[in-house]
Amino acid sequence: MAKINIYHLYPAHLNLYGDRGNILALCRRADWHGIDFEVVPVEPGGEVDFARCDLLYMGGGQDSDQKMVADDLKTRQSDMSRAVEAGMTIFAVCGSYQLLGQYYTTSNGEKIGGLEIVDLYTEAGPKRLIGNAVIKCSLWNPPRTLVGFENHAGKTYLRTGLKPLGEVQIGHGNNGNDKTEGAVYKNVIGTYLHGSLLPKNPWLTDYLLNKALCYRNQAFQPAQLDDSLEQQAHDSAIRLAGSRRHKRLSSRA
Ligand code: GLN
Repeated sequence: MAKINIYHLYPAHLNLYGDRGNILALCRRADWHGIDFEVVPVEPGGEVDFARCDLLYMGGGQDSDQKMVADDLKTRQSDMSRAVEAGMTIFAVCGSYQLLGQYYTTSNGEKIGGLEIVDLYTEAGPKRLIGNAVIKCSLWNPPRTLVGFENHAGKTYLRTGLKPLGEVQIGHGNNGNDKTEGAVYKNVIGTYLHGSLLPKNPWLTDYLLNKALCYRNQAFQPAQLDDSLEQQAHDSAIRLAGSRRHKRLSSRA
């Protein structure tokens, strides 16, 4: 039976807007697809066995939480970057997405050093970027839609050559200016989308499971699942995102 080991970094610190739901979605769908799994929660000082870890998950966090884990994260930098180059999957949301890059400068002007695994940097802007967001994601051909909720002060900029996760259709994305959202480097995916994201975008959950299995040369044999409930959640989040935008536009008129 295929098996994946999921390491969950800092669940006590990095868990905003239901991000733990991403772990639940990964486990539930792994189960439905007949994949055995183990989830190992790791707090600062705990061990990540990179020889076993197939998928590393990190949720979002407030500035204070990011500061609390940043030093611990730094101690894992070389192991993590070696594993990433070998093909390990990382899925990082918001605060931890920022920490994958070079640095995050908070609104107080404090600079939190990042892992420098993904070629990006983040600087807090004068207003928070908040709301439901819809992006067109080219991990699939034809592209698929991802929908989630964002709330961040940080404005993230991807350096040349780094691919975004998607193109913003509704919302702010990485920085509110260039229509990019998230980043993809090898099997690392960073995104600003909370929600939680995976339950209402099941194709991304399966994408991550597939990458984690391939890393250890295991085949993903997807079961035929009835995703109608997930699809309904996805569609209603899109409607919500669209109606907020509509209201904003009509209140300006
Ligand atoms: N503290 C970061 C910011 O405000 C990340 C917030 C989050 O994870 N939602 O940009």
